[in-house]
Amino acid sequence: MTERPALLWFRDDLRLSDNPALRAAIEHGPLICLYIFDTSAGRRPIGAAARWWLSRSLTVLSDAITAKGGESLILRGDPAELLPRIVQEADIGFVAWNRRYEGAAIALDKELKATLSEAGVAVESFNANLLNEPWQVTTKADGPFKVFTPYWRAARERGEPSAPLPTPGKLSKAKLPAALRKQMLTVADLALEPSAPDWAGGLRDAWTPGEDGAHDRLSSFLDDAIADYRNGRDRPDRSSTSRLSPHLRFGEISPRQIWHATKAALETGNTRGSAADAEKFFSEIGWREFSYHLLFHNPGLATANFNRRFDAMSWEKDEAALTAWQKGQTGYPIVDAGMRQLWQTGWMHNRVRMITASFLIKHLLTDWRVGEAWFWDTLVDADPANNPASWQWVAGSGADAAPYFRVFNPVTQGEKFDPNGVYVRRFVPELAALDHKFIHRPWEATASALKQAGIVLDRDYPKPIIALDFGRRRALDAFSALRSE
Ligand code: FAD
Repeated sequence: MTERPALLWFRDDLRLSDNPALRAAIEHGPLICLYIFDTSAGRRPIGAAARWWLSRSLTVLSDAITAKGGESLILRGDPAELLPRIVQEADIGFVAWNRRYEGAAIALDKELKATLSEAGVAVESFNANLLNEPWQVTTKADGPFKVFTPYWRAARERGEPSAPLPTPGKLSKAKLPAALRKQMLTVADLALEPSAPDWAGGLRDAWTPGEDGAHDRLSSFLDDAIADYRNGRDRPDRSSTSRLSPHLRFGEISPRQIWHATKAALETGNTRGSAADAEKFFSEIGWREFSYHLLFHNPGLATANFNRRFDAMSWEKDEAALTAWQKGQTGYPIVDAGMRQLWQTGWMHNRVRMITASFLIKHLLTDWRVGEAWFWDTLVDADPANNPASWQWVAGSGADAAPYFRVFNPVTQGEKFDPNGVYVRRFVPELAALDHKFIHRPWEATASALKQAGIVLDRDYPKPIIALDFGRRRALDAFSALRSE
């Protein structure tokens, strides 16, 4: 061990366990644990719901670092400028970080690696957040995959992911130079949480950000809900999915940990789930891996059509319809329930994400990028790979995408996946008393059913903002014109 301090730069890996960069830094010397809230122009700013999550998660991480004898250095600014300065001022001998995969982040990391190496500082980066690096899974012709199933087969053929690293014991704290200490911020100084108005009450009720919260969530999923995963994961009225997405997004838990904990639970009989449930769960983790594979090979995934034929699409720009969609006031209960779940809790069930996205892109013929941006701002799990890849998947412009003629019907989807209207009643309480025959089609309700439920349409709940047949036909015409170009 040298006496020059080592710098660990935390980014999307807000955890102490299974953190390879942290382990490497500990081996090199007394530690500075750095987090920079990136305000540089080159990177996409995170959305409001994700800022709330980040604030909570950073607080938990920073407390955990302190409890182990370490200290976190929180700063705000441009890492390209800050990092070399910190390294120089604190006479750092070794810098470590875990990799990110957005184009701008990769470019920044490369630039920093070059600058620091030139200055004689050792720099190492690691894979902490994926089962496989995006470039490790290749087709037989050594290229990237465009279709999920062969991608996942090839990924599985690479064997089991390595075992997760343990949580370190005590952290030895490096002495911070006075100049740096003066610039040190608290998490509260970053002002990431909303105050006027404070809209985060629903988020606070729904989530426990941080490493312990992530592991608790995984344990309770493995104990119980996983047994309903294969059958129930498409049902928004049930709690059959893990809800690990925001924890994964901020790297509070790693997919390696999820993988091995699931396997261990199966082997010890410590779960109600079966091997088949686990396999289905792993394949969804596989979709996340596939999104990162796509992002790495297509850095413009959030802004450019993967299939460039879609560049010719002429989208509608109906502001009133967009606002109705955002506020959950479209008159289609399953769409409105989803958009309100998103607004209240910062999360939406996957099936309903598909339904609401399809409604915006197909029935309202709105550019998928508009919906992607709204989700980016309102999801606590807003993810640089999963969000654009999924939006492009629904639009049909993405890799392995839904076919253009698949236009989800929000009524039949609602009746199939929320058959008793439990989900709708929860998030659209003004419909709570409506007879279940009409819960997904209130505009067809008889006068007596409406009266009995105390509902006046267009006063208590909107009539549909668009006729489904009209929207579907318009979308099919627009999308098929594209195909023949
Ligand atoms: P589980 O079913 O328990 O799955 C476990 C994990 O696997 C998830 O946490 C997630 O990391 C991954 N996963 C599951 N389903 C998918 C999927 N279809 N695609 C990619 N990864 C998946 N997911 C995000 O993490 N961030 C996003 O910003 C995001 N935006 C989306 C936008 C749209 C329009 C759609 C249709 C899907 C989006 N998804 C996104 C994917 C998916 O909806 C969520 O990952 C999932 O609902 C999270 O819930 P869960 O953790 O309970 O999932």
